Amino acid sequence: MNRRDAIRLFSTGAAAGVTGLLETSAAAGAPQRAAAGLSPVKIRDIKTILTAPDRIRLVVVKVETTEPGLYGLGCATFTQRAYVVQTAIEKYLKPFLIGRNVDEIEDIWQSSYMSSYWRNGPVLFNAMSGVDIALWDIKGKRAGMPVYQLLGGKVRMGADCYFHAAGKDFVELEERVGFAIGKGFRHVRIQSGVEGLATYGAAGPNRGTGAGPSGGDDVIGPTNPKAIWESAKYSRMVPKMFAHIRAKFGDDVELLHDVHERVTLQQGIQICKDVEQYRPFFIEDPFPPEDNDHFRLLRGQCSTPLAMGELFNTQHEYLPLIREKLIDYIRIHISQIGGLSPARKVAALSEYFGVRTAWHGPGDASPVAHAAQLALELASYNFGVHEGSGFPQNTQEVFPGCPEVKNGYMFAQEKPGLGIDLDEKLAAKFPFPDGPPNFDYSWGTTRRRDGTVIRP
Ligand code: MG
Repeated sequence: MNRRDAIRLFSTGAAAGVTGLLETSAAAGAPQRAAAGLSPVKIRDIKTILTAPDRIRLVVVKVETTEPGLYGLGCATFTQRAYVVQTAIEKYLKPFLIGRNVDEIEDIWQSSYMSSYWRNGPVLFNAMSGVDIALWDIKGKRAGMPVYQLLGGKVRMGADCYFHAAGKDFVELEERVGFAIGKGFRHVRIQSGVEGLATYGAAGPNRGTGAGPSGGDDVIGPTNPKAIWESAKYSRMVPKMFAHIRAKFGDDVELLHDVHERVTLQQGIQICKDVEQYRPFFIEDPFPPEDNDHFRLLRGQCSTPLAMGELFNTQHEYLPLIREKLIDYIRIHISQIGGLSPARKVAALSEYFGVRTAWHGPGDASPVAHAAQLALELASYNFGVHEGSGFPQNTQEVFPGCPEVKNGYMFAQEKPGLGIDLDEKLAAKFPFPDGPPNFDYSWGTTRRRDGTVIRP
């Protein structure tokens, strides 16, 4: 039978036998069984909830459905520009998506992506992430399964977490590392202050707001720098810090460090070469995403494991690094690339290139984002490490069902969906704080002594 004959056959009564077969099996109940749990449920409403239970501005999306009591939660936190994300959801995504079938997660993602014509970027992707993660939560609830089951099921019992240890100097840092190890963490990020400099991630008075030569209340600018950063002194400190902590705690603890992009090409290479002998778990963000090509030069010179990517938006930024095996850990902030749907593709792709996942997860990833990350980590063979050590008290109360951290592992709530909820009344008691709109207001204000703004 050629193609034309086949079309004729199916367009005439001759196809009745085939149709009859379909009807027979329908009568036997097979298609109905296959469709069980898939009766259409529609998006009835999308709410954007702003809350700051521990003073970090969080944006959470609640997707409500036509099935009474069935809803999902997603994270849309772009903490530095939270109100812009709120507008993107309320004014644009919500009217576009009301009435859509909640089961069509992938199509909702793809069509939302196209809906603005101009696409990508932290605002639009965070807005999409809020909806996307919420739809996975809903699908898990509909299936009666935790989301990790929908992603393939567990390949591990829990996700190894890393603790942030920071000190104004090595002595204070040492105390924090000891605390973390005592709590059961096997992975510790170490950050130390550099005297007189506004050092990223370090505790103490120099953290991001260190007084510069001008001081006072004048507007910070190139002629009036205030938080001062010079990378040369820092880059000489890092190997000494590793030597100190290794000497104190031996080889049984995995040590991580975040450069936070604040160095030159040569300094980034030198730091990674200098710390190679201390066998770090990874060195994070030695360069900004604008300088992705630097990784090729770095990679050829040492075996220090490299982690990169919290500022990435699109596949054009991360694909070359993964494909060319220029990094060891991909550190995307999952709401920043549009949520769980794109993150699971990144995870699967990375597995084939020997790249492990270490999703970005500080306080400006809400507990909902952590729960979504965890679902993926439990089901991803190439999971590396989870950033975080638990949630502060107010945050736990606003988000009942936060994933639990015990003995250095994060464990899933064994409940359908993401297993996490939001107490909206309590959330409303923690409005965004007044003052500068940033999570950490040193972005765009930390400068070199001569006034040059530094990245980031
Ligand atoms: Mg970082």
